[in-house]
Amino acid sequence: MTAAKAKTSGHAPFELMKLPYEDTALEPVISAKTISFHHGKHHKTYVETLNKLIAGTEFEGQSLESIIKATHKDEAKRKIFNNAGQVWNHDFFWNSLDPKGGKPTGKMKEMIESSFGSYEDFKKKLTETGVEQFGSGWAWLCLEGGKLMLKKTPNAESMLTEKGCKALLTIDVWEHAYYLDYQNKRPDFLSAVIDKLLNWRFAEQNLG
Ligand code: MN
Repeated sequence: MTAAKAKTSGHAPFELMKLPYEDTALEPVISAKTISFHHGKHHKTYVETLNKLIAGTEFEGQSLESIIKATHKDEAKRKIFNNAGQVWNHDFFWNSLDPKGGKPTGKMKEMIESSFGSYEDFKKKLTETGVEQFGSGWAWLCLEGGKLMLKKTPNAESMLTEKGCKALLTIDVWEHAYYLDYQNKRPDFLSAVIDKLLNWRFAEQNLG
């Protein structure tokens, strides 16, 4: 499950990440229909648009992470940032999910309990974090100063440009992530993903 690292170390032309599971594997929490649009259309379009935008530019030979850091907060390069950020965020999101997900065990269980009190408190706070992101964005579990923290980012922003903050897991809270399955009920989508699909092995690998 180190696909996100492998994918982001390459350079243009970028390729759409192959999902690490079948498109029906996340059902009933996330339907194959949602996957077909979310991965097969939204994510794919970010990859294709990024490749077009950087063709023939200084960014063509750079890694995805370098492009994101170089274009962050640069108004003239906002389109490149948005598409590069969305490619990275989606690679990270698909790796944050596991058809066999459930409650954390071992080291992640200990860290969740020492940082949030209990798994139930963690779940409540991560759900709130995702719900409170107004409009499109992402909810993150990250490591900051040796402690687990919850953060939210708008649009294509991520933890890559947050100093001292390392992403462990993310949940996409753009409407395209849940609307076909949950319509307007973002809290229900978050609750189901947290209970059934989080990839705690991926989180532990990202502790570094
Ligand atoms: Mn998305």
